Amino acid sequence: MPSYVIPDKCDGCKALDKTACQYICPNDLMVLDKAITKAYNREPEMCWECFSCVKICPTQAVEVRGYADFVPLGATVSPLRSSDSIMWTVKFRNGTLKRFKFPIRTTQEGTAVPDGGWTTGDENLKSPNLFTEPMSLGLSSVQTLK
Ligand code: SF4
Ligand code: SF4
Repeated sequence: MPSYVIPDKCDGCKALDKTACQYICPNDLMVLDKAITKAYNREPEMCWECFSCVKICPTQAVEVRGYADFVPLGATVSPLRSSDSIMWTVKFRNGTLKRFKFPIRTTQEGTAVPDGGWTTGDENLKSPNLFTEPMSLGLSSVQTLK
């Protein structure tokens, strides 16, 4: 089931040039109807159901119906992001609510460790090993063809 916008919750990202859902959609599906300042998915059949627009929307106006292997049929699932975690709220058909909170970062927001702390360098570019090998395998060396 593709994403859909609940009009009553959407504030059009307060008429910014580009809304959050437009910015994040990898398939460029979300558009803003400027006349009514509401967004919508212009091509639902092209939606990957990636949940990106659902997670980024500041007013929780976008929903995607979860797959049955993710939440039971008839349940809704909605995320609430913070700077270091995401809280998923599942509402079951009988009204039961369950919440699951997961960390989403290993560094402070706005920071990153691009190499993950692994050794890098020009020499490594010439190596047939994968980036973190052999350390990540707990080995001192990896057997390769000479
Ligand atoms: S991100 Fe949410 S509030 Fe902003 S335009 Fe999209 S649906 Fe509306
Ligand atoms: S679920 Fe993903 S592909 Fe679908 S509209 Fe949202 S961001 Fe785009």
